[in-house]
Amino acid sequence: MSVLELARGEILAMQPYSSARMESSSHGVMLNANESPWPFPAAVGLNRYPEPQPMALRSRLAALYGVEPDQVLASRGSDESIDLLVRAFCRPLQDAVMICPPTFGMYAVSAEVQGAKILRVPLSGPDFTLDVDRVLAAVTPAVKLLFVCSPNNPTGGLVPLASVRHLASALAGRALVIVDEAYVEFAGAQSTATLLQQHDNLGVLRTLSKAWGLAGARIGALLAHAEVVDLLRRIMPPYPLPTPSVDAAMAVLGGGEGLMRKHVAVVATERESLRAALETMPGVREVLPSRANFLAVRFEHAVAIQRSLVRKGIVVRDVTRYPGLEDALRISIGTPAENNRLLEVLYPLVRGQCEEVIPEVPASGLGPWRGRS
Ligand SMILES: *Cc1c(COP(=O)(O)O)cnc(C)c1O
Repeated sequence: MSVLELARGEILAMQPYSSARMESSSHGVMLNANESPWPFPAAVGLNRYPEPQPMALRSRLAALYGVEPDQVLASRGSDESIDLLVRAFCRPLQDAVMICPPTFGMYAVSAEVQGAKILRVPLSGPDFTLDVDRVLAAVTPAVKLLFVCSPNNPTGGLVPLASVRHLASALAGRALVIVDEAYVEFAGAQSTATLLQQHDNLGVLRTLSKAWGLAGARIGALLAHAEVVDLLRRIMPPYPLPTPSVDAAMAVLGGGEGLMRKHVAVVATERESLRAALETMPGVREVLPSRANFLAVRFEHAVAIQRSLVRKGIVVRDVTRYPGLEDALRISIGTPAENNRLLEVLYPLVRGQCEEVIPEVPASGLGPWRGRS
């Protein structure tokens, strides 16, 4: 059986739009796309429509992620790939996606826009781990896509490769397992893309928005079997990737992985020293273990702390609307100077709020984290 049997029949049957750039190469006298023949001097080359799936970018991403170019769908952020998957596989009011909250919000948003049902199997235990057996027990015939976020946003936990392998095997012929690896560079873990050859119902989401520092360029990718990539291309807008974004991605990727790895290493060190500092702070209940570039932190007064931080010019994410995180804020790891500034501002805030509860807080200074470099 082909994994395409899980796709919506109407998508398989439809005649996809065929753009000028798909139908012929962009060489010679170009009179086929109703473009302007005059580029503006400030925007050389932008009078032409871009390649729908730039070959150079696809090849570069394939090499980076260890797959074949025809297993790469480059999209406007991985957000677009999520949306395309839901639209290609879930019939409105019939099919469903399964998610494991608390997790990234876009899976549910895309499902709702499509009219797909959402089945939720919460992550388990104090560290929010994915319970493979509970997930599998909850899968119904309506479920076409299972989204697994690893490391998970906003909790930071990594899902072991063995769990993904188990899920993909158990759901073969029934549903696709989509592993969102937006933060995997920070985890120093092996990508589940290494399992693609064995599982045609596996997809892996990657992005240049986080470790690669290109959130503004909006370049992400789905790594999947070539037939799944081709299916999604049928419903993708004809020119999804703006030329300046592709150029920026090629320039950054062309420079090699060195700088990215250096930044990832700084983030990992900073994350652990920020954790150590936060854990000893009054008013902090818990810092969740994280393999990503953020920490989920439980506070005695999360919402008040978040608002006070904003007034002091520091913006962190209120995640109290997520189930199980009703007392938590999500703090992205910044530069060492930014992280120090956070601690400097946070300490007097939590101390002020905890004075009645904990009388024996240090009376002055910044405590053990003063002078952290
Ligand atoms: C940030 C994020 C994304 C979105 O990435 P883009 O490529 O910028 O669209 C996807 N998944 C998770 C879990 C994220 O946190």
